[in-house]
Amino acid sequence: MTRSVHAGNDSSGPSVRTPITMANSYHLPPEPERMSWSGTDQLFYTRNTGANQVALQDKLAAVEEAEDAVVLASGVAALHAVFFTFLSTGDHVVVSDTTYEATWKLWAELLPNKYGIEATFVDITDPENVRAALRPDTRLVAVETIANPTTKVGNIEALADIAHSGDALLLVDSTFTPPPLYRPLADGADLVVHSLTKYINGHGDAMGGAVLGRSELIGRIKEEAMVDVGGVISPFNAWLIARGAITLPLRLAQHQRTAERVAAFLDADPRIAYVRYPGLASHPEHELAARQFGGRGYGAMMAFAVRGDSATQNRFVGALTVITSAVSLGHDESLIVHVGPDGPRVAAYPEPFREWGHLRFSVGLEDADDLIADISRALDATFPHGG
Ligand SMILES: *Cc1c(COP(=O)(O)O)cnc(C)c1O
Repeated sequence: MTRSVHAGNDSSGPSVRTPITMANSYHLPPEPERMSWSGTDQLFYTRNTGANQVALQDKLAAVEEAEDAVVLASGVAALHAVFFTFLSTGDHVVVSDTTYEATWKLWAELLPNKYGIEATFVDITDPENVRAALRPDTRLVAVETIANPTTKVGNIEALADIAHSGDALLLVDSTFTPPPLYRPLADGADLVVHSLTKYINGHGDAMGGAVLGRSELIGRIKEEAMVDVGGVISPFNAWLIARGAITLPLRLAQHQRTAERVAAFLDADPRIAYVRYPGLASHPEHELAARQFGGRGYGAMMAFAVRGDSATQNRFVGALTVITSAVSLGHDESLIVHVGPDGPRVAAYPEPFREWGHLRFSVGLEDADDLIADISRALDATFPHGG
Protein backbone atom coordinates (compact mmCIF):
# COMPACT_ATOMS: atom_id res chain seq x y z
CA MET A 1 0.00 0.00 0.00
CA THR A 2 2.88 2.41 0.81
CA ARG A 3 4.21 2.12 -2.74
CA SER A 4 0.73 2.71 -4.16
CA VAL A 5 0.55 5.94 -2.16
CA HIS A 6 4.03 7.36 -2.69
CA ALA A 7 5.63 5.90 -5.84
CA GLY A 8 5.69 8.29 -8.78
CA ASN A 9 4.55 11.29 -6.77
CA ASP A 10 6.79 14.26 -7.56
CA SER A 11 6.62 16.65 -4.64
CA SER A 12 9.82 18.52 -5.51
CA GLY A 13 7.85 21.63 -6.52
CA PRO A 14 5.76 23.82 -4.23
CA SER A 15 2.85 21.33 -4.13
CA VAL A 16 3.00 18.02 -2.28
CA ARG A 17 1.40 16.28 -5.29
CA THR A 18 2.47 15.89 -8.93
CA PRO A 19 0.68 18.75 -10.75
CA ILE A 20 -1.05 18.19 -14.10
CA THR A 21 1.26 19.47 -16.83
CA MET A 22 -0.91 20.11 -19.87
CA ALA A 23 2.01 21.05 -22.12
CA ASN A 24 3.13 19.60 -25.44
CA SER A 25 6.70 20.93 -25.11
CA TYR A 26 9.25 21.52 -22.40
CA HIS A 27 12.22 23.92 -22.40
CA LEU A 28 15.11 22.55 -24.43
CA PRO A 29 18.62 22.34 -22.97
CA PRO A 30 21.15 24.94 -24.15
CA GLU A 31 22.66 22.54 -26.71
CA PRO A 32 19.61 20.73 -28.10
CA GLU A 33 21.43 19.45 -31.20
CA ARG A 34 23.03 16.78 -28.99
CA MET A 35 19.64 15.26 -28.10
CA SER A 36 18.01 12.25 -29.74
CA TRP A 37 14.61 13.24 -31.13
CA SER A 38 13.45 9.67 -30.45
CA GLY A 39 14.75 9.80 -26.89
CA THR A 40 12.45 9.22 -23.95
CA ASP A 41 14.72 10.09 -21.01
CA GLN A 42 14.40 13.81 -21.15
CA LEU A 43 11.29 16.00 -20.98
CA PHE A 44 11.04 17.87 -24.30
CA TYR A 45 7.93 16.71 -26.21
CA THR A 46 4.93 14.91 -24.73
CA ARG A 47 4.89 12.18 -27.41
CA ASN A 48 8.33 11.16 -26.07
CA THR A 49 7.97 11.93 -22.36
CA GLY A 50 5.60 14.01 -20.30
CA ALA A 51 5.77 14.74 -16.59
CA ASN A 52 2.47 12.98 -15.82
CA GLN A 53 3.34 10.04 -18.05
CA VAL A 54 6.61 9.59 -16.14
CA ALA A 55 4.84 9.86 -12.78
CA LEU A 56 2.36 7.14 -13.76
CA GLN A 57 5.08 4.89 -15.23
CA ASP A 58 7.10 5.17 -12.02
CA LYS A 59 4.09 4.28 -9.87
CA LEU A 60 3.11 1.31 -12.02
CA ALA A 61 6.67 -0.04 -12.20
CA ALA A 62 6.87 0.16 -8.40
CA VAL A 63 3.58 -1.63 -7.72
CA GLU A 64 4.15 -4.29 -10.41
CA GLU A 65 7.82 -4.70 -9.26
CA ALA A 66 9.00 -4.18 -12.84
CA GLU A 67 12.23 -2.56 -14.04
CA ASP A 68 10.35 -0.19 -16.31
CA ALA A 69 6.91 0.71 -17.64
CA VAL A 70 5.45 2.50 -20.65
CA VAL A 71 1.96 3.98 -20.63
CA LEU A 72 -0.16 4.50 -23.72
CA ALA A 73 -3.62 5.75 -24.66
CA SER A 74 -5.52 2.47 -24.08
CA GLY A 75 -5.06 -1.18 -23.22
CA VAL A 76 -5.33 -2.11 -26.88
CA ALA A 77 -2.67 0.48 -27.77
CA ALA A 78 -0.42 -1.24 -25.19
CA LEU A 79 -1.06 -4.68 -26.70
CA HIS A 80 -0.49 -3.36 -30.21
CA ALA A 81 2.74 -1.69 -29.06
CA VAL A 82 4.10 -5.10 -27.99
CA PHE A 83 3.08 -6.75 -31.25
CA PHE A 84 4.46 -3.87 -33.37
CA THR A 85 7.78 -3.73 -31.53
CA PHE A 86 8.68 -7.39 -31.30
CA LEU A 87 7.19 -8.93 -34.47
CA SER A 88 7.94 -8.67 -38.16
CA THR A 89 6.53 -10.17 -41.32
CA GLY A 90 7.03 -13.93 -41.34
CA ASP A 91 7.04 -14.29 -37.56
CA HIS A 92 4.71 -16.63 -35.70
CA VAL A 93 2.88 -16.22 -32.39
CA VAL A 94 0.96 -18.59 -30.14
CA VAL A 95 -2.15 -16.95 -28.65
CA SER A 96 -4.67 -18.20 -26.10
CA ASP A 97 -7.95 -19.20 -27.74
CA THR A 98 -9.81 -17.09 -25.16
CA THR A 99 -8.84 -13.41 -25.05
CA TYR A 100 -10.22 -9.93 -25.09
CA GLU A 101 -12.16 -9.39 -28.31
CA ALA A 102 -9.72 -6.87 -29.84
CA THR A 103 -6.71 -9.11 -29.15
CA TRP A 104 -8.43 -11.95 -30.92
CA LYS A 105 -9.34 -9.77 -33.90
CA LEU A 106 -5.80 -8.45 -34.22
CA TRP A 107 -4.50 -12.02 -34.36
CA ALA A 108 -7.32 -13.62 -36.33
CA GLU A 109 -7.58 -10.95 -39.00
CA LEU A 110 -5.60 -7.73 -38.93
CA LEU A 111 -2.00 -8.73 -38.26
CA PRO A 112 -1.98 -11.86 -40.48
CA ASN A 113 -3.73 -10.11 -43.37
CA LYS A 114 -1.89 -6.81 -43.25
CA TYR A 115 1.56 -7.87 -42.05
CA GLY A 116 1.85 -11.62 -42.66
CA ILE A 117 2.37 -12.46 -38.99
CA GLU A 118 0.81 -15.84 -38.36
CA ALA A 119 -1.01 -16.85 -35.17
CA THR A 120 -1.90 -20.26 -33.77
CA PHE A 121 -4.71 -20.26 -31.19
CA VAL A 122 -4.51 -22.91 -28.47
CA ASP A 123 -6.23 -23.84 -25.22
CA ILE A 124 -3.57 -22.67 -22.77
CA THR A 125 -5.09 -24.47 -19.77
CA ASP A 126 -2.92 -27.37 -20.93
CA PRO A 127 0.48 -25.66 -21.37
CA GLU A 128 1.62 -28.62 -23.47
CA ASN A 129 -0.69 -27.31 -26.21
CA VAL A 130 1.59 -24.27 -26.37
CA ARG A 131 4.71 -26.42 -26.60
CA ALA A 132 3.15 -28.38 -29.47
CA ALA A 133 2.34 -25.15 -31.33
CA LEU A 134 5.86 -23.66 -31.06
CA ARG A 135 7.78 -23.31 -34.32
CA PRO A 136 11.33 -22.12 -35.03
CA ASP A 137 9.87 -18.74 -36.05
CA THR A 138 7.67 -18.35 -32.93
CA ARG A 139 8.61 -15.03 -31.28
CA LEU A 140 5.78 -14.50 -28.80
CA VAL A 141 3.28 -16.39 -26.65
CA ALA A 142 0.31 -14.22 -25.59
CA VAL A 143 -2.13 -15.14 -22.80
CA GLU A 144 -4.39 -13.56 -20.17
CA THR A 145 -3.90 -14.51 -16.51
CA ILE A 146 -7.68 -14.79 -16.05
CA ALA A 147 -9.22 -14.70 -19.50
CA ASN A 148 -11.90 -12.25 -20.58
CA PRO A 149 -14.70 -13.40 -20.50
CA THR A 150 -14.64 -17.11 -19.56
CA THR A 151 -12.28 -16.64 -16.53
CA LYS A 152 -10.01 -19.44 -17.79
CA VAL A 153 -6.77 -19.28 -15.74
CA GLY A 154 -3.29 -19.68 -17.27
CA ASN A 155 -0.37 -21.30 -15.44
CA ILE A 156 2.10 -18.47 -16.01
CA GLU A 157 5.20 -20.22 -14.64
CA ALA A 158 4.67 -23.27 -16.90
CA LEU A 159 3.84 -21.08 -19.90
CA ALA A 160 6.98 -18.96 -19.34
CA ASP A 161 9.18 -22.06 -19.22
CA ILE A 162 7.69 -23.34 -22.46
CA ALA A 163 7.89 -19.96 -24.25
CA HIS A 164 11.54 -19.60 -23.20
CA SER A 165 12.37 -23.14 -24.32
CA GLY A 166 11.44 -21.91 -27.82
CA ASP A 167 13.24 -18.54 -27.43
CA ALA A 168 9.89 -16.75 -27.46
CA LEU A 169 8.73 -13.96 -25.15
CA LEU A 170 5.74 -14.52 -22.85
CA LEU A 171 3.25 -11.65 -22.85
CA VAL A 172 0.66 -11.74 -20.07
CA ASP A 173 -2.41 -9.50 -20.17
CA SER A 174 -2.97 -9.16 -16.41
CA THR A 175 -5.91 -6.74 -16.56
CA PHE A 176 -8.14 -9.05 -14.44
CA THR A 177 -5.35 -9.62 -11.86
CA PRO A 178 -3.68 -6.30 -11.02
CA PRO A 179 -1.09 -6.06 -8.27
CA PRO A 180 -0.98 -6.82 -5.37
CA LEU A 181 -3.18 -9.82 -6.38
CA TYR A 182 -0.62 -11.13 -8.88
CA ARG A 183 2.69 -10.14 -10.47
CA PRO A 184 3.33 -12.31 -13.57
CA LEU A 185 6.92 -11.05 -13.98
CA ALA A 186 7.88 -12.93 -10.79
CA ASP A 187 6.67 -16.17 -12.41
CA GLY A 188 8.77 -15.63 -15.53
CA ALA A 189 6.59 -13.50 -17.82
CA ASP A 190 8.65 -11.13 -19.99
CA LEU A 191 6.00 -8.48 -20.58
CA VAL A 192 2.85 -7.61 -18.64
CA VAL A 193 0.04 -5.55 -20.16
CA HIS A 194 -2.71 -3.80 -18.22
CA SER A 195 -5.74 -1.99 -19.49
CA LEU A 196 -5.46 0.91 -17.04
CA THR A 197 -9.04 1.75 -18.02
CA LYS A 198 -10.12 -1.04 -15.68
CA TYR A 199 -9.01 -1.73 -12.06
CA ILE A 200 -5.89 0.42 -11.99
CA ASN A 201 -7.76 3.66 -12.69
CA GLY A 202 -10.80 2.09 -11.11
CA HIS A 203 -13.24 4.98 -11.45
CA GLY A 204 -14.51 4.53 -14.99
CA ASP A 205 -13.44 7.98 -16.18
CA ALA A 206 -10.17 7.58 -18.11
CA MET A 207 -8.65 5.17 -20.63
CA GLY A 208 -5.06 4.03 -20.66
CA GLY A 209 -2.79 1.04 -21.10
CA ALA A 210 0.61 -0.02 -19.82
CA VAL A 211 3.35 -2.49 -20.66
CA LEU A 212 5.80 -3.51 -17.92
CA GLY A 213 8.99 -5.55 -17.95
CA ARG A 214 12.77 -5.39 -18.30
CA SER A 215 14.19 -1.95 -19.22
CA GLU A 216 15.71 -3.25 -22.43
CA LEU A 217 12.31 -4.48 -23.72
CA ILE A 218 10.32 -1.46 -22.50
CA GLY A 219 12.93 0.93 -23.95
CA ARG A 220 12.38 -0.61 -27.37
CA ILE A 221 8.60 -0.21 -27.05
CA LYS A 222 9.00 3.46 -26.06
CA GLU A 223 11.24 4.29 -29.01
CA GLU A 224 9.46 2.27 -31.68
CA ALA A 225 5.82 2.05 -30.71
CA MET A 226 5.32 5.16 -28.62
CA VAL A 227 7.48 7.87 -30.20
CA ASP A 228 7.13 6.69 -33.80
CA VAL A 229 3.57 5.33 -33.79
CA GLY A 230 2.22 7.86 -31.36
CA GLY A 231 -0.59 6.34 -29.28
CA VAL A 232 0.39 8.39 -26.23
CA ILE A 233 -1.79 8.99 -23.20
CA SER A 234 -2.95 12.52 -22.42
CA PRO A 235 -1.35 14.14 -19.35
CA PHE A 236 -4.81 14.55 -17.81
CA ASN A 237 -5.66 10.86 -18.18
CA ALA A 238 -2.24 9.87 -16.84
CA TRP A 239 -2.89 12.09 -13.80
CA LEU A 240 -6.39 10.64 -13.26
CA ILE A 241 -5.06 7.09 -13.47
CA ALA A 242 -2.15 7.81 -11.10
CA ARG A 243 -4.70 9.25 -8.68
CA GLY A 244 -6.99 6.23 -9.01
CA ALA A 245 -4.09 3.78 -8.62
CA ILE A 246 -3.32 5.08 -5.12
CA THR A 247 -6.27 3.16 -3.66
CA LEU A 248 -5.90 0.04 -5.85
CA PRO A 249 -4.94 -2.37 -3.00
CA LEU A 250 -7.90 -1.19 -0.88
CA ARG A 251 -10.35 -1.30 -3.76
CA LEU A 252 -9.15 -4.70 -4.90
CA ALA A 253 -9.61 -6.16 -1.42
CA GLN A 254 -13.19 -4.88 -1.31
CA HIS A 255 -13.95 -5.98 -4.90
CA GLN A 256 -12.69 -9.49 -4.09
CA ARG A 257 -14.43 -9.90 -0.72
CA THR A 258 -17.71 -8.90 -2.34
CA ALA A 259 -17.14 -11.06 -5.44
CA GLU A 260 -16.60 -14.13 -3.28
CA ARG A 261 -19.91 -13.54 -1.49
CA VAL A 262 -21.83 -12.78 -4.68
CA ALA A 263 -20.38 -15.84 -6.46
CA ALA A 264 -21.39 -18.07 -3.55
CA PHE A 265 -24.91 -16.59 -3.61
CA LEU A 266 -25.28 -17.19 -7.36
CA ASP A 267 -23.83 -20.69 -7.06
CA ALA A 268 -26.47 -21.65 -4.49
CA ASP A 269 -29.50 -20.31 -6.43
CA PRO A 270 -31.28 -22.93 -8.59
CA ARG A 271 -32.42 -20.23 -11.05
CA ILE A 272 -28.76 -19.69 -12.04
CA ALA A 273 -27.58 -22.03 -14.82
CA TYR A 274 -23.87 -21.78 -13.97
CA VAL A 275 -21.28 -19.47 -12.43
CA ARG A 276 -17.63 -19.28 -13.46
CA TYR A 277 -15.46 -17.58 -10.85
CA PRO A 278 -11.92 -18.81 -10.10
CA GLY A 279 -12.63 -18.54 -6.36
CA LEU A 280 -15.35 -21.21 -6.51
CA ALA A 281 -14.25 -24.80 -5.92
CA SER A 282 -16.30 -25.74 -9.02
CA HIS A 283 -14.07 -23.63 -11.31
CA PRO A 284 -11.93 -25.88 -13.56
CA GLU A 285 -8.69 -24.05 -12.60
CA HIS A 286 -9.60 -23.30 -8.98
CA GLU A 287 -6.58 -25.11 -7.52
CA LEU A 288 -4.14 -23.50 -9.94
CA ALA A 289 -5.63 -20.08 -9.11
CA ALA A 290 -5.35 -20.70 -5.35
CA ARG A 291 -1.69 -21.68 -5.72
CA GLN A 292 -0.69 -19.08 -8.30
CA PHE A 293 -2.35 -16.12 -6.55
CA GLY A 294 -0.97 -17.27 -3.19
CA GLY A 295 -4.27 -16.89 -1.30
CA ARG A 296 -4.45 -13.16 -2.14
CA GLY A 297 -7.79 -13.65 -3.89
CA TYR A 298 -9.27 -14.50 -7.26
CA GLY A 299 -10.14 -11.12 -8.74
CA ALA A 300 -13.69 -9.85 -9.04
CA MET A 301 -14.74 -10.86 -12.55
CA MET A 302 -17.21 -13.66 -13.14
CA ALA A 303 -19.44 -15.09 -15.85
CA PHE A 304 -22.84 -16.63 -15.23
CA ALA A 305 -26.24 -17.12 -16.84
CA VAL A 306 -29.78 -17.40 -15.54
CA ARG A 307 -31.77 -20.48 -16.61
CA GLY A 308 -33.47 -19.34 -19.77
CA ASP A 309 -33.07 -18.01 -23.27
CA SER A 310 -31.56 -14.71 -24.39
CA ALA A 311 -34.81 -12.85 -23.68
CA THR A 312 -34.75 -14.20 -20.11
CA GLN A 313 -31.19 -12.96 -19.58
CA ASN A 314 -32.26 -9.53 -20.87
CA ARG A 315 -35.28 -9.50 -18.53
CA PHE A 316 -32.98 -10.27 -15.61
CA VAL A 317 -30.50 -7.53 -16.55
CA GLY A 318 -33.36 -5.10 -17.15
CA ALA A 319 -34.69 -5.75 -13.62
CA LEU A 320 -31.39 -4.86 -11.92
CA THR A 321 -31.35 -1.41 -10.33
CA VAL A 322 -27.97 -1.21 -8.57
CA ILE A 323 -25.93 -3.14 -11.14
CA THR A 324 -25.52 -1.26 -14.43
CA SER A 325 -25.75 -2.80 -17.91
CA ALA A 326 -22.63 -1.44 -19.63
CA VAL A 327 -19.32 -2.63 -21.01
CA SER A 328 -15.94 -2.15 -19.31
CA LEU A 329 -14.98 -3.54 -15.91
CA GLY A 330 -13.03 -2.83 -12.75
CA HIS A 331 -14.97 0.38 -12.10
CA ASP A 332 -16.34 1.46 -8.74
CA GLU A 333 -19.86 0.60 -9.94
CA SER A 334 -20.84 -2.99 -10.75
CA LEU A 335 -21.19 -3.58 -14.48
CA ILE A 336 -22.93 -6.40 -16.33
CA VAL A 337 -22.93 -7.28 -20.05
CA HIS A 338 -25.21 -9.85 -21.66
CA VAL A 339 -23.44 -11.82 -24.38
CA GLY A 340 -25.97 -14.29 -25.75
CA PRO A 341 -25.22 -17.69 -27.29
CA ASP A 342 -25.00 -15.96 -30.68
CA GLY A 343 -22.57 -13.33 -29.42
CA PRO A 344 -19.15 -12.79 -30.98
CA ARG A 345 -16.78 -15.76 -30.48
CA VAL A 346 -19.18 -17.63 -28.19
CA ALA A 347 -19.05 -20.64 -30.55
CA ALA A 348 -15.37 -20.99 -29.60
CA TYR A 349 -16.08 -21.08 -25.85
CA PRO A 350 -16.56 -24.28 -23.88
CA GLU A 351 -19.84 -25.41 -22.36
CA PRO A 352 -21.77 -24.08 -20.49
CA PHE A 353 -21.03 -20.80 -22.36
CA ARG A 354 -22.27 -22.15 -25.70
CA GLU A 355 -25.57 -23.40 -24.34
CA TRP A 356 -26.60 -20.40 -22.25
CA GLY A 357 -24.49 -17.51 -23.45
CA HIS A 358 -23.19 -15.52 -20.51
CA LEU A 359 -23.46 -12.42 -18.43
CA ARG A 360 -20.02 -10.94 -17.81
CA PHE A 361 -20.16 -9.43 -14.36
CA SER A 362 -17.65 -6.98 -12.89
CA VAL A 363 -18.34 -6.81 -9.16
CA GLY A 364 -18.00 -3.22 -7.99
CA LEU A 365 -17.42 -1.51 -4.68
CA GLU A 366 -21.05 -1.43 -3.52
CA ASP A 367 -21.92 -3.29 -0.31
CA ALA A 368 -22.22 -7.01 -0.91
CA ASP A 369 -25.65 -7.07 0.76
CA ASP A 370 -26.96 -4.45 -1.68
CA LEU A 371 -25.67 -6.36 -4.71
CA ILE A 372 -27.10 -9.64 -3.47
CA ALA A 373 -30.45 -7.96 -2.75
CA ASP A 374 -30.43 -6.44 -6.26
CA ILE A 375 -29.73 -9.81 -7.89
CA SER A 376 -32.29 -11.51 -5.69
CA ARG A 377 -35.02 -8.97 -6.57
CA ALA A 378 -34.17 -9.21 -10.28
CA LEU A 379 -34.36 -13.03 -10.15
CA ASP A 380 -37.79 -12.83 -8.47
CA ALA A 381 -38.94 -10.41 -11.18
CA THR A 382 -37.55 -12.65 -13.96
CA PHE A 383 -39.11 -15.83 -12.56
CA PRO A 384 -42.40 -14.66 -11.02
CA HIS A 385 -43.66 -18.25 -10.72
CA GLY A 386 -40.45 -19.62 -9.17
CA GLY A 387 -37.44 -21.26 -10.85
C1 LIG B 1 -10.49 -3.96 -21.66
C2 LIG B 1 -9.41 -4.93 -21.91
C3 LIG B 1 -8.41 -4.65 -22.84
C4 LIG B 1 -8.41 -3.41 -23.68
O1 LIG B 1 -8.25 -2.26 -22.94
P1 LIG B 1 -8.78 -0.83 -23.43
O2 LIG B 1 -8.28 0.09 -22.37
O3 LIG B 1 -10.26 -0.92 -23.54
O4 LIG B 1 -8.16 -0.58 -24.78
C5 LIG B 1 -7.41 -5.59 -23.02
N1 LIG B 1 -7.40 -6.74 -22.31
C6 LIG B 1 -8.34 -7.04 -21.42
C7 LIG B 1 -8.27 -8.34 -20.67
C8 LIG B 1 -9.40 -6.15 -21.18
O5 LIG B 1 -10.36 -6.46 -20.30
